[in-house]
Amino acid sequence: SLTIADRVNRVTPSMTLAISAKAKAMKAEGLDVCSFSAGEPDFDTPDHIKAAAKQALDQGKTRYGPAAGEPALRRAIAQKLQQDNDLCYGPENIIVTNGGKHSLYNLMMTLIGPGDEVIIPAPYWVSYPEMVTLAGGTPVIVPTDLAGGYKITPEQLRRHITPQTRLFILNSPSNPTGTVYSPEEIKALAEVVIEADIWVVSDEIYEKIRYDDVPHLSIGAIGPEAYQRTLLSNGFAKAYAMTGWRIGYLAGPVELIRAMNTLQSHSTSNVCTFAQYGAIAALEGPQDCIATMGHAFAQRRQVMLKAIHSIPGLSCATPQGAFYLYVDISALAVPSLDFCSQLLEEKYVATIPGVAFGAEGSIRLSYATDLETIERGLERLAAFVRSRS
Ligand code: PLP
Repeated sequence: SLTIADRVNRVTPSMTLAISAKAKAMKAEGLDVCSFSAGEPDFDTPDHIKAAAKQALDQGKTRYGPAAGEPALRRAIAQKLQQDNDLCYGPENIIVTNGGKHSLYNLMMTLIGPGDEVIIPAPYWVSYPEMVTLAGGTPVIVPTDLAGGYKITPEQLRRHITPQTRLFILNSPSNPTGTVYSPEEIKALAEVVIEADIWVVSDEIYEKIRYDDVPHLSIGAIGPEAYQRTLLSNGFAKAYAMTGWRIGYLAGPVELIRAMNTLQSHSTSNVCTFAQYGAIAALEGPQDCIATMGHAFAQRRQVMLKAIHSIPGLSCATPQGAFYLYVDISALAVPSLDFCSQLLEEKYVATIPGVAFGAEGSIRLSYATDLETIERGLERLAAFVRSRS
C-alpha cells in the first residue's frame, strides 16, 4: 500500500490554491462566478519583458545555467537592491529561485531544523508555517488584530523569543491584510531582532504595490547590525505580473547563499534560463507598468472599501499595500470557512476564509480582478450578509 512520508503528512495543501481551483472549475461548468480569490495580478506580463525572453530563446539561451542564476540577473538584482532599498549586496549574496515561494522554502530547508522556533505573526501567508514544519522546525504563531492594524508589536515579538528562536518572518506589505509597517515600526522590530540576535526574513514580494505614498523600508537598511541578521526574499510575480514565470530571489550572507545553492543544485537546478532574461528586462527596462497596474489597483481598492463599509456587520482596515481587503466578519458569529463555502455555493462568490491564514473571524477578498466583477460580486456579498443577519 502507498504510505506517504510523515514530512508531507504533517502539512495541509494550500487552501487558497484549492478555493481558486474550485472557483475556476465552477466557472468552467458555465456558472457565473465572481472570484475574489486570486493571489495574482490580472494583468498580462508587459510586452518588453516577454520580448526579452523570446529573444533569449532565439539566441539559444535554452541550456542549463548556473544553479544560483544567470550572473547578469544576479547583478541586476544586486543593483535593484542598492537603488530601491539602499542595501549593499554583491551578486554572490543573491540566489535566483523558482519564485518567492521557492526562495522561502529553500531558506527554511537551509536554516531551520528540529528544535528551531520560527516566529510568524498571524494572519500569515498560508505557506510560512507549512514550510517551517516541512523543514522540521516549530512555527510560533503570534496573533495580531484589526485594532492593532494587524501588526506585531516589539513587545509581542520580545515575549515570544526563547533560546530556541532562530527566525522571525516579516511580511510588509502583507498578504492577507495589506498592512505596511512604518519605518519607525520596522526600526523598533529590528531592535528586538538585534537584541535577541536572531535572524529575520523580510518577505518583500508586494513591495511595489503600495497606496497613498506610504514608504517601504527594508529592515536590513536600518544599519549594519540589522543588515547582518536580515535575509531578504522578493520576486517578480506581483510587481511585474509574472506569476507563471516562477522567478524569485533571496539575498543574504554568502555562506547561506552557498548552502542554498548546494540544496538547489541537487533539487531544481537553475530557474528556466530564458525566463531569467525576461526578469533582467523587468529590472532594467521601463518601470511604468508598475504605476499603470498601481492606478488600477488603487481605483478598485476605493470601490471595494466603499462597498464593504456600506454593508452592516462587516468592517475592514484600509490596506496600504498588496491587493487584498481583509474583512472582519466577527459580528456575524460564523466560522470563516462556513461563510466562504456558503457564499460560494449560494452566490457564486469566491473568497478565502481567515482560518487559512491562521485567524478566525475574517475573510480575504482579492481585488486583482476587473471593476465589473467587483461591483457584481460585492452586491451579491451584501445580499448574502443581509440574508444572514
Ligand atoms: N510571499 C507572499 C506573501 C505571497 O503572497 C506570495 C504569493 O502569493 C509569495 C511570497 C510567493 O510568490 P511567488 O512564488 O509567485 O514568487
